[in-house]
Amino acid sequence: MERIAIFPGSFDPFTIGHESIVKRALPMFDKIVIMIGFNSNKKSFFPLEKRMKWINQIFEDETKIEVKSHEGLTVDFCKLVDAKYILRGLRTSSDFEYERAIAQVNKRMHPELETVFLLTKPEHTPVNSSIVRDIILHDGDASMFLPQKLNMNEFKKDEA
Ligand code: ADP
Repeated sequence: MERIAIFPGSFDPFTIGHESIVKRALPMFDKIVIMIGFNSNKKSFFPLEKRMKWINQIFEDETKIEVKSHEGLTVDFCKLVDAKYILRGLRTSSDFEYERAIAQVNKRMHPELETVFLLTKPEHTPVNSSIVRDIILHDGDASMFLPQKLNMNEFKKDEA
């Protein structure tokens, strides 16, 4: 049976921290579906289509990765794509407390599901999408926090 994991997040935008977690998890699974979760009542910084395009671009040479979007419960998406694993990254102890609750609730709702955590690389601990958004919003250079494959011109705030 195929080992399918999903990597859920808002990825607004997808950072080097996200990229590193996915790459490190690749040998563990047959397929990783990157799930961009969205809520039609909440406005994101970057449009869903762009976030999707960027992630596809980052992993264009990686046949084990798919990118999809989903509105609703993560456990329902897992059932839809037949994934038994949820992949998450852990940066800090506050990430842990937050993630623990979500993982335990997901397990109650879907007992076959396991959440797999990878500790972030030390150099990626301070990287998060909201800081990257702030840098872009204030015309700073966020390139060091974004995957190398991306074209930085597309990250100008007027392009968002
Ligand atoms: P969410 O909106 O669910 O928090 P994010 O897009 O912020 O989604 O993050 C998705 C996943 O990536 C989460 O498991 C988060 O902990 C992990 N993550 C975010 N930033 C980093 C990072 N710098 N290093 C490792 N993991 C990270």
